[in-house]
Formats: sequence, structure tokens, C-alpha cells
Amino acid sequence: MKRFFLVLLSFFLLLSFGSCSQERVCRGDFFAFDTYHTVSIYGMSEPEADALLSDLEAETRALENVFSFYLDDSELARLNRERKALLSDPLYSALLSAAKIKTETNGAFSPTLGALTSLWGVGREGFLPPAEKEIAAALAASSPDLTLSGGSASLPEGMLLDAGGFAKGVLAERLVEKVRASSCSRAVLSLGGNVGVYSADGSYEFRIGITDPHAPEKTAGYLLLRSGFLSVSGHYERYSEYAGQRYSHILDPRTGRPADSDVVSAAVWSEDGLLADALSTAFVVMGREEALAFFSETDREFGAVLFLSDGTVALTDNLKGSFVETP
Ligand code: ADP
Ligand code: MG
Repeated sequence: MKRFFLVLLSFFLLLSFGSCSQERVCRGDFFAFDTYHTVSIYGMSEPEADALLSDLEAETRALENVFSFYLDDSELARLNRERKALLSDPLYSALLSAAKIKTETNGAFSPTLGALTSLWGVGREGFLPPAEKEIAAALAASSPDLTLSGGSASLPEGMLLDAGGFAKGVLAERLVEKVRASSCSRAVLSLGGNVGVYSADGSYEFRIGITDPHAPEKTAGYLLLRSGFLSVSGHYERYSEYAGQRYSHILDPRTGRPADSDVVSAAVWSEDGLLADALSTAFVVMGREEALAFFSETDREFGAVLFLSDGTVALTDNLKGSFVETP
């Protein structure tokens, strides 16, 4: 419920669009992947927009049946049980990308950390921090690489895949593709922490608000975007408390424990939705120094806004001028 409320706050209230337009807008929302999704479609007649919205919802459900860790019958859940399988194209190509980002981020982002997310169960009723021995065992099961070849995956003993850190980035990409193929002039898709923006001629400037992690009912600022995907990950989104301590749902796959760096929330923009989603999670794990070093050393194209525990904000150079802090 808390999560539902925060998502609503983050994206119903904080999304603000550029200049006011006379264009007709249709909005739709639906629940999937354990969160609410909101879509705004411009420049279509009501029946056309309704048809597009149903198509987007159907695609979301189809992808949930591929990537969900919790739906017993999803393709990912079956792979986790069966250990070896020939995969569908969307799952295989997303796992290839995610595995590559795991290597590039030196393990800060890891699609193979399912044994750890299951063990910790952050956000579950009756949360209790696990014992050291259990953490060590889940860490050992999560650390090896996944074997991907010829469209198949095979998991080493004890490993579980968790697509929670990248599935909504893939979803955002797929839905923007569908929007692009329609007659819609402009759209904003807000998919549980991942926003995709689209305008037919690519010239519209969207203002996308970013939640203040220190006061989640407020906007910390907004980014001006013409295309691509913005993903925001932060401790404030989902956490558990025990004995006066907070435990984040973002885990450090290198220690097996909840992330505890100086980055409390990271917003990442990229033309690659999966990359934006994965890096926003990775930067919360890495902390400021490692995240900015990654930015200067990689060939990947993205921009990041890092919200730090001391209340300040660090930006990658390419976003200076696009990020406007709320006074
Ligand atoms: P959201 O919950 O909004 O999707 P994220 O994109 O940050 O937030 O993804 C967090 C989810 O990803 C967790 O709930 C968990 O399932 C998984 N996860 C947690 N830590 C990591 C990590 N270091 N690398 C990859 N996935 C992670
Ligand atoms: Mg993420």
C-alpha cells in the first residue's frame, strides 16, 4: 500500500509537462509488476487512444508473464525451478544485456542475486534480518556468472535470477515501441520508477519531476528530456525496518547486504531503457565516487543525477543544464 501511495505521489503529482497544449490527452492506468503504471497519450481520438491503451496493458501483462520473480508460472520463475531452458527472445536478450552490465559495473548490478533478494525479503510482512551464515550461503550462490548461449540459459547450483532491477526498463522500451508504431503525437509512460517519453518529431521538451528522496512527498527537481528513458531507484521506494534500523530493497550483491552507500537515490537517463533501469540500481550500490568514475570510464551513453545522504546532488557533466533543482 505504501508503495502504491509513493508511486502515485511520484508520478501523478510530480510529472509536469512542458507548455500547455490544446492537444487532446487520454490517460490510463493499470496495476502490474507489483506497481501502478500511468500512461498519457496525446493527439489521438478517444477510440484510438483506448485501443492503444489496451494494447499497452496487454503487452505489460505479457511481459510480466516473462519476467516476474513472483508469478509462479512466469518464464523466469520456471527457469529458476528448472535450472536450464531454451528462452524466449525478450528474456534471452534482456539477460544478455543484464549480464553484460553486471560485468561492467563490477557486480554492483546483478541479475543473479535472486537467492539474496529471497533471503532478505525486504518489504515482506514480518521482516527479520537473516543470519550471517544464511547471507554467506546466498552470496556464494548469487556470485557466479550465468551461462547464456545459443538462446539457452543454465544456472549454477543455488542461483536464482531476479529481473526486478531491469524488467521495467525493458517494459518501458517495449511500450514506447508500440506508441511509436501508432498515430500518437506524444506520450509519457510512467512505469513504476521508469519513465519513457516520446514525441513524433522528437522535438517536444518534457519536464519530468524527480522525487526528493529526503522528503518523498516533494519534487527535488526536474529533468528536461526530448526522448529516451529515465529510471529512478532509491531506498525510500521500498524498505523494511527492524530494531530501529532501515533495510533497503536494493542489495549490494558484493556484500550480500542492503546497499548502504552515500547515494540514497539515483536517477539515470538513457536512450536504452534497460541500461537506465540497471544503472539507477547500480549507482545506489556503488556510491558517488564509484558511480562518477564509471561514468568517466565507460563508452555507455547516459546521464545521472545522484542524490546524496548529506542532502546534496551530484550530476554527470552532460546533465548540467538539463536538471533544474526545486528551490
Ligand atoms: P524498483 O523496485 O522501483 O524496480 P529498482 O529498479 O532499483 O527499483 O530495482 C530494485 C529491485 O531489483 C529489487 O526489488 C530487487 O528485486 C532487485 N535488486 C535489488 N538489488 C539489486 C542489484 N544490486 N542489482 C540488480 N537487481 C537488484
Ligand atoms: Mg532499476
